[in-house]
Amino acid sequence: MNSVKIQSRALKQVIPSLATSDGAGVKLRRSIGAHASLRLDPFLMLDEFGTDNPGDYIAGFPPHPHRGFETVTYMLDGRMQHRDHLGNVGDLGPGSVQWMTAGRGVIHSEMPLQESGRMRGFQLWINLAAREKMKPAEYRDIPAADLPLITLDDGTQVKVIAGTFAHAGQDTSGPINSACRRMTTDPLFLDVQLPAGVTFSQTIAQDHNAFLYVYEGDVAVVADGRRQSLPTQAAGVLAEGDRVEIVAGKQAARFILLAARPLREPVVQHGPFVMNSREEIEQAMRDYQTGALTDAAA
Ligand code: MN
Repeated sequence: MNSVKIQSRALKQVIPSLATSDGAGVKLRRSIGAHASLRLDPFLMLDEFGTDNPGDYIAGFPPHPHRGFETVTYMLDGRMQHRDHLGNVGDLGPGSVQWMTAGRGVIHSEMPLQESGRMRGFQLWINLAAREKMKPAEYRDIPAADLPLITLDDGTQVKVIAGTFAHAGQDTSGPINSACRRMTTDPLFLDVQLPAGVTFSQTIAQDHNAFLYVYEGDVAVVADGRRQSLPTQAAGVLAEGDRVEIVAGKQAARFILLAARPLREPVVQHGPFVMNSREEIEQAMRDYQTGALTDAAA
């Protein structure tokens, strides 16, 4: 048997975020998924939105469909309201998370609940395994108060959204975890606030793909005695290993850390539909036109 070797993940690729717009003209920055070649299985897309100008967000995301994957919205500032064809209405406030499994189909809107002030947060798309793509839609609102927030002795703050954060021999699981919900991708989603110069480390399953996205300050990824710096508003894809070590620069830094089990299945995307084949995409478009996208009995 091989001895257990802890290997820290190096920084493999930097994906800068590109300014774009989506919905009815909401300005955002896309990194993961800005191009089909920039996905990180099973992560399809990461959008960061952040602005003090209502003109950048006021038009929101009027009703639109999804099929075949999960959308995760994490609000930092501002308020949005979700409404869907199932009758769910959810107000997303600062620090809250919306975890939506589109499965065979959801039609929803995501509209601002404010006419001024700052709107900031993320939307992440996580693919579903082929056998899960046509399961019934599920929707979950997670208020900020239900997300564990751990403050370490060095001042680091970790919010656990999905998966488990291991620290000082203790495990803290977020509201989305494999024990409460069967998930092929078994995602880890942490939001970390790191004081200047402080190092953060976290175990990451060896067979999972992982990246971090810095949204305030800058950090370096430490592996094999090397420091590889990652600028703000860029996704840093991590190489193989079973843990990650991240150190903040001269200023405090904030980043999200994501990891998940890759699906290794073909991905065919047409806008808000993500399936495994061209035929399934054509079926999704037909189903949307005929109303069968969201027909649970179909
Ligand atoms: Mn949507």
